[in-house]
Amino acid sequence: MSGVLIVAEHLQGRLRDVTRELVTAAGGLGGPLTVAVIARDPGPLAEAVNLSGVDEIVTVRVDSEEFEVDSSQAALEALVAERRPDVTLLGFTVNSMSFGPAVAAKLECGFASDVFGIAREGESIVATRAFYGSKVQAELEFPAGSPVILLLRPTAWSPAEGPGQATVTELQVSPRTARSRHLEFVEAPPSDVDITTSDFLLSIGRGIGERENIEQFAALAEKMGATLSVSRPIVDAGWMPSARQVGQSGKTVKPKVYLAFGISGAVQHLAGMKTSGTIIAINTDPEAAIFDVAHYGAVIDLFSVADELEKLF
Ligand SMILES: Cc1cc2nc3c(=O)[nH]c(=O)nc-3n(C[C@H](O)[C@H](O)[C@H](O)COP(=O)(O)OP(=O)(O)OC[C@H]3O[C@@H](n4cnc5c(N)ncnc54)[C@H](O)[C@@H]3O)c2cc1C
Repeated sequence: MSGVLIVAEHLQGRLRDVTRELVTAAGGLGGPLTVAVIARDPGPLAEAVNLSGVDEIVTVRVDSEEFEVDSSQAALEALVAERRPDVTLLGFTVNSMSFGPAVAAKLECGFASDVFGIAREGESIVATRAFYGSKVQAELEFPAGSPVILLLRPTAWSPAEGPGQATVTELQVSPRTARSRHLEFVEAPPSDVDITTSDFLLSIGRGIGERENIEQFAALAEKMGATLSVSRPIVDAGWMPSARQVGQSGKTVKPKVYLAFGISGAVQHLAGMKTSGTIIAINTDPEAAIFDVAHYGAVIDLFSVADELEKLF
């Protein structure tokens, strides 16, 4: 049992960036690197994953154009049984979450999700991930001898580039009855705003308290020349449309200025904004995780700041 296996992720015929990031992450682990492409037509995708550092590409033909959980699960079980990698890397994505943990449980592999650091220390694999809303980071050690499946956080590694010289082989996997089928993609309803193109986001979170308070921050954003964005609870409550949500299940943004009012800085929120140019956070909790990524912060009631800013603009 040795080597690293990556399962490539693709959507509408295109390789998703997270796959290239997994290749970079795998570089630090040593051992032969195999990338599996599970697709109806794996050829073009196999070419796209032939990146520097990849030793072998294994294609698995399935009968669905797009991702389906049962065929991916069957393929991964067969790949792990046949290749016996000691580490399997998947993206921490909606797709991988739907079959990676199941395979880990069935094959009795070690498992961790949302991993943002990995290393081989001696014979062990050490994975770093956060707990308690990112208040602590923990290193999980997986001792030698048991295979491990890790779901790595997208954007935590830079994407691998440069052509590789991988060999391409095919693995036949018996089809499994699909309990769900991909039917179609439905475009999200058009939105009046694209928060990903704004240079200045004024972002509000649950700390604003009441729906009625949104108006104050919408007006302040307009006065300041900012675009209003929000954390997920504001969308979940039905107070604002999902087009304005920043984060893992919302939009990834990189404005010049990100001004956050009453946002705690949960990992899923940070995933969407932590590379912003200048991050300013306002929160009454000095331990809030948003301060870990903020360049400037104020531990103060957000309404008092909003009131003062209104006078200035
Ligand atoms: C699979 C998954 C995907 C997710 N995707 C996203 C995502 O895309 N985006 C996202 O945002 N979240 C996402 N979440 C939810 C995320 O885990 C958090 O629950 C969410 O980000 C918390 O939002 P918040 O910071 O607004 O609220 P809270 O965590 O409740 O924080 C509110 C903050 O406001 C502060 N506060 C309260 N009153 C005041 C005041 N008067 N003045 C100043 N500060 C005040 C508090 O101290 C607190 O820190 C996801 C979760 C899961 C499981």
